[in-house]
Formats: sequence, C-alpha cells, structure tokens
Amino acid sequence: MSTTKRIEPFLVFADAAGNIYDHPELLMLCRRGNELTLPRPDELIPLPEGSEFFLLPGRSALGLDPETGQVEELGEPDELAVAVFASPAHTLSATAAYSTRPGAPVLPLFAYGALGFYEGQFYVCAKRVDMDHRQEFCNIPRARIENGARKLRADLPDNRLVRHLTGCALTYGCPAARNLALGRFEAPLPTSRTCNARCVGCISLQPEDSGFPSTQNRITFKPSQNELVEIMRRHQSKEKRPIYSFGQGCEGEPLTEAALIAASVAKFRKAGGLGTVNVNTNASLPQTLPDLAAAGVDSIRVSLNSARKGPYEAYYRPNGYQFENVLESIRAAKASGLFVSLNLLYFPGITDGENEWDALDALVAETKLDFIQMRNLNLDPELVMRLMGGFDFGPCMGLANFLKRLRKSNPWLGFGYFNPYLEK
Ligand code: SF4
Repeated sequence: MSTTKRIEPFLVFADAAGNIYDHPELLMLCRRGNELTLPRPDELIPLPEGSEFFLLPGRSALGLDPETGQVEELGEPDELAVAVFASPAHTLSATAAYSTRPGAPVLPLFAYGALGFYEGQFYVCAKRVDMDHRQEFCNIPRARIENGARKLRADLPDNRLVRHLTGCALTYGCPAARNLALGRFEAPLPTSRTCNARCVGCISLQPEDSGFPSTQNRITFKPSQNELVEIMRRHQSKEKRPIYSFGQGCEGEPLTEAALIAASVAKFRKAGGLGTVNVNTNASLPQTLPDLAAAGVDSIRVSLNSARKGPYEAYYRPNGYQFENVLESIRAAKASGLFVSLNLLYFPGITDGENEWDALDALVAETKLDFIQMRNLNLDPELVMRLMGGFDFGPCMGLANFLKRLRKSNPWLGFGYFNPYLEK
C-alpha cells in the first residue's frame, strides 16, 4: 500500500501588481489541449530553481471546487491567472488553466506551464528530462559573465561575431552566449541572415501583424571562416568537452550557409580541432548534409513540432521546401554517419496524442535517429489550438506515457534537452 501523500495543490492567482496568492479552497487545474483536468499525481514536481512566473494579462484563473466538483473562474478584474516558464531541462506536461477575457492580448513567445501551491511549496506539471547543468546560472554572479565577455573581446578584438555574441550575453542574457563568455559547455555560432521557413513562433523574426515580438534580433552580417574558426579554437582552449553549435535563436536557417559552415569546420578540423560540431537546423536542404559530414560536422538537431505533414507545415510554413525534404535530410544525415537529434517542440495534449505518437514512433523506427530533445513549444496556447485545430491528434496519453512508450518501442533512442557531447 503506497504511503506517499497525495499532493493536491491549490489554485494560484495574482493581482494586477503581480502579487501572487494561493486560493484557500479551489484546487489547481491544468490543460492538455482541449482537456481541462486535475494534475496527474506523477506529473507534479516542486518548482525548479530558475523558473519564471508569468502574469497572464486579460485572463482569469480556473480552479476546481472540491465540494461541488465544479470548475470555478476567478473573474474579478484584478484577479489574474498565473503561469510558469519552467527552467531549462524541464518539459511541461500540461499548460495553465485559464479563460481569456474579451480584448486580451496575444501572449508572447514563451511556454505557459500550470502552477499550483501546496504546503508552502509551488508545484508545476513538468518533468526534468536532462541532468545537464549548462543553462543554470543561478550561482554565477553577473560580474563573472561580464569579465568573461571582456576577456573574450580582448582576445579576439577584431572578431565581429565575438562582438555580436558578447552583446547577446550581456543584453539578452542568451544562455549559449553566456556560456561562450564563461568558456564552458556549448559555443553558439550563428551564420545566417535568412530562412526558408516562416515558423509561427519564430524567435528571431516576427511579421508586424503577428501581435507578439520576436525575442531576439537576427544577425545582420555573414561571419567569415576565420571569425568562426577563431571562436571554435578559443572555446576548445577553455572547455575539455567542447560543443560548437551552428543554428542559433538569433539567426535564420544555417543550411542556407552550408558552404561557409563546411569550409570553416574543415579548416578547424585540419588544424587539429576537437569536440562535437553540431548544426541546429530545420533540415530543409538534404543535399547539403553529406558535405557537412565530410567536413567534420558530427551531429544535427532537426527542429520538429510533428512527424505528420499537415501539422508540420501549418507551423513551419515552409518556403521552397516541404515536409518530405525534412525526412530526406534525416535519412541523408544518418547515411552520412551523423548523430541525429530531434528538437521536438512538445505541446501537451497535441504531441502526446495517439496519432502524433504513432507518426513519431514510425519516423524513429524507420530512420533510427538517435536522440530526442524534449523542448517546450513557446507559443500562446490558444494560438496553438487554433493553428492545430483542424488536425485529429487522438486521445492524449500524458508526457510520462509518451516517453515510456517511445523508449520501449525504440530501445536505442536517447532523450534529453540539450545537444549531447559525443565521445569519440
Ligand atoms: S526555422 Fe528558425 S529561423 Fe527559420 S523561421 Fe523557424 S524559428 Fe525562425
């Protein structure tokens, strides 16, 4: 007989000033797609350090009255719903439960996790999927990052990419750029100003009328081979297990600069360059992958919200390529000996739908891709449901079952949140 006490968090809401309160009676609810439900016991974790609270403008919190079993709405004007952006390495298994009032603005490009409070502790519906600490900065004073950025600029004073990335580290707080300044983990190497996709949730370029801003500005110049190789060599001199990643949030699609990347990586390798060279990509250009592999690239990470053509193209809105090209790229990468990860943009109630799981399982089994990075889709949940409304996802199984079944069906498959360092 299990003795673990059942955690039943109470609803959390806020006033317009952002003060957060727990409700004395109403229980926390959460949302998976169109489903409004109590959290499953196995999905509640104490709120991880480094998570951020979000006040949801124009939205009322929804909770459950345990006496009547009815869903109650906190509708007072100064009572607002709250959501949480879980710290990196955590995948949300459910989104916040709220109802949107007329005239409410679209929410900006973040993921909105369900939050509750119980016996002095905040709880979130999420799962830690990676034990790597590369995006934890809670114990690193800002001065150390500033100092690292200064040293990097001093070492490579004429390198435009260094000026761009140290700016990103100190202005946007970009975790990848901060790690470069600190000389640890994964170095970002943006190269491309253009993209052949128009993702609804693109973080580097948003159309005027989208209603929400991009969270980063796109790089405005094309770095040279020397600028890229200089950064790679310096990072190798600082980090024993260096990872170098083309394809960052502040650029377009790196495969549009495949020739530059291949030439730079070949130069780096020829000079004895070590470490894992990775390309984060929308995998739209399969013909570029054999040359990248021959040049010394080790892995690619393919961005994907769905393994089905309809939902994929509805989100990525490809321009000059199709979903089939993405599949072709995964096959070409495997045939060229590359380690292939998916950057799976997980959305509770959609990605864990039976029909989505079937398609993803078939893709993994057919291509033998190696790893799935369980990322959160950063987009207003109601916009996601409108965008995906026309597709039948089937009943949802929950994050825990989703992972368990994929692991069972594809025993070699690895899971995480970050690009793995590949031992050679
Ligand atoms: S692939 Fe990347 S850069 Fe291109 S539209 Fe999508 S998010 Fe933006």
